[in-house]
Amino acid sequence: MDISKLGKFGLIERLTQDIPSSQPSTLKGIGDDAAILVYGDTALAVTTDMLVEGIDFDLTYAPLQHLGYKAAICAFSDIYAMNAMPRQLLVSIAVSAKFSVEAMERFYQGLKLACERHHVDLAGGDTTPSMTGLAINVTAIGEATPEKMSYRNTAQKGDLICVSGNLGAAYAGLQILEREKKLFEDDPSIQPLLDNYRYVVERQLKPEARRDIIVFFATAGLTPSSMIDLSGGLASDLLHICTASGVGCEIHCHKIPIADETIAAAEEFYLEPLITALNGGADYELLFTIPLKDFGKISENADISIIGYVTDREEGRYLVTENGARMELKAQGW
Ligand code: ADP
Ligand code: MG
Repeated sequence: MDISKLGKFGLIERLTQDIPSSQPSTLKGIGDDAAILVYGDTALAVTTDMLVEGIDFDLTYAPLQHLGYKAAICAFSDIYAMNAMPRQLLVSIAVSAKFSVEAMERFYQGLKLACERHHVDLAGGDTTPSMTGLAINVTAIGEATPEKMSYRNTAQKGDLICVSGNLGAAYAGLQILEREKKLFEDDPSIQPLLDNYRYVVERQLKPEARRDIIVFFATAGLTPSSMIDLSGGLASDLLHICTASGVGCEIHCHKIPIADETIAAAEEFYLEPLITALNGGADYELLFTIPLKDFGKISENADISIIGYVTDREEGRYLVTENGARMELKAQGW
């Protein structure tokens, strides 16, 4: 059977459907942003991510420092999505002969900067040759309090659906980079004009993981009832929470936060900014639900938007426009 028949998530489900957890320490196995392992009073969150040249990044426009930074951020973001704090990072690389020592040093500069900013130790990895380019695997290990973990499958009817920051910027940045790459390929004398698009391009090349939101939860005494990081796009990732939790949802178009820079860039490509925000991936913001009683605490944080609420599974999953039209929420995929 062709893998395309199942798609990424169908393939993962098929390959992992009959894998039970037999160790009492495996509190959470496959199916969330990170696995959760409990030893005594300590819970560990562990996640691994793979980035492959030509698939996950394009070295024509992704500088290696940024790529190192981004690789670490992807992994930290999955740890934050469990309401945990990353502590260690392991990095494996498969490198082809086209990379110089200096190039790989630049990659490590980015990795080290991300680790420094997120207070993480780079604790190991593996290095091997590659025939075809660069492949990167990052594994992050985080520390958590078992009762404060946030899973994908614990959203409750009536909970508020919240999102940090703004959405669609990384996808808008990717459109700009792809356009400039094409122009450059057609005429190498043309210098890319990126100054007007600095914000969205940076969100694509050098995203940030929302440590500050996890710190805010701790100081506000708040534990999200469910959480996921936005790597696949709002629609796809919200549907992951709904499916895992067995609930429905209603989100409101005009509540979805989109930066002015994203709107401007999307409009240049005749893209509806809302579609960019719904389906664009790799924003690495946090999508989470909170019980209604925590509304007051959430409203203290200006960088968190309430975009809707959790409903019964039977009520379906809907996107509501400003004039009240209801559309079924669908995952377009990243
Ligand atoms: P994320 O986007 O948060 O990194 P993924 O969609 O990649 O999450 O993965 C979803 C879940 O499937 C995770 O629990 C992950 O560990 C698991 N998973 C993904 N690929 C595999 C695989 N090849 N074998 C076993 N588990 C996998
Ligand atoms: Mg994730």
